[in-house]
Amino acid sequence: MSASLEPKISRTSSVDEKQDNVLFKSKIQKLIQSKDNNNLYRLLKKNKKSRTSYKQLKYEGIIYKIGQNLCIKADRRIDYVAKLIKIIKLVDNDDEIYPLIKVQWYYRKFELEKIPKPYMDYISENEVFKTNEYDYIEIESIVSLASILTYEEFDQLETMNDTTYFMRAAYINGTFQPPIEEWTTTCICQKPPNPDLKYIQCEACQGWCHLNCLKLTKEKAKKILKFICPKCQQ
Ligand SMILES: [Zn+2]
Ligand SMILES: [Zn+2]
Repeated sequence: MSASLEPKISRTSSVDEKQDNVLFKSKIQKLIQSKDNNNLYRLLKKNKKSRTSYKQLKYEGIIYKIGQNLCIKADRRIDYVAKLIKIIKLVDNDDEIYPLIKVQWYYRKFELEKIPKPYMDYISENEVFKTNEYDYIEIESIVSLASILTYEEFDQLETMNDTTYFMRAAYINGTFQPPIEEWTTTCICQKPPNPDLKYIQCEACQGWCHLNCLKLTKEKAKKILKFICPKCQQ
């Protein structure tokens, strides 16, 4: 009796298992289609074959290491910047591999919300703000390495490219750390410097003044051989 039942039980359970796996696979496909990599990670991290202990990855001939900063493309934009936190190989029941990376986002100017307009004038297109936001994303999102300098380093650059940024604050839960009021200021107006605006440098104090604040046009400023700021003239 029990002998004749056994095959029946085992056959039933294998059909269930197969159905489970079909469901599981279609769940994975749905997550991939909707680019829901955070939930894909949650789903597959339990698999014993999934690994997160890689120190570097090679993508399109370039080696990327944990802790390096990256230019990232998403939604057809290639403007995002993030730090590489983890390299992950997710594996499903059929040993299919889904590689992902975990990144910590930096915000750029266009991602900031509810910042008063005058403050936005201090912020550069080449500026980034470290956040406490993390995501799992596809390796194919990597565009290149990014370099993130201090404002002082960035200010000294003679040439730059579109993978060079600077950072003078973090942006955590909608506020700058340190707050804008504590950022180093420049010019007679005592505002934080924005490298995107036109300035003239004082030969005496090396400080920068807005051409606007001095009521100077670009053409007039070019003709000044030795600029001494109003503060140093006193
Ligand atoms: Zn000014
Ligand atoms: Zn000066």
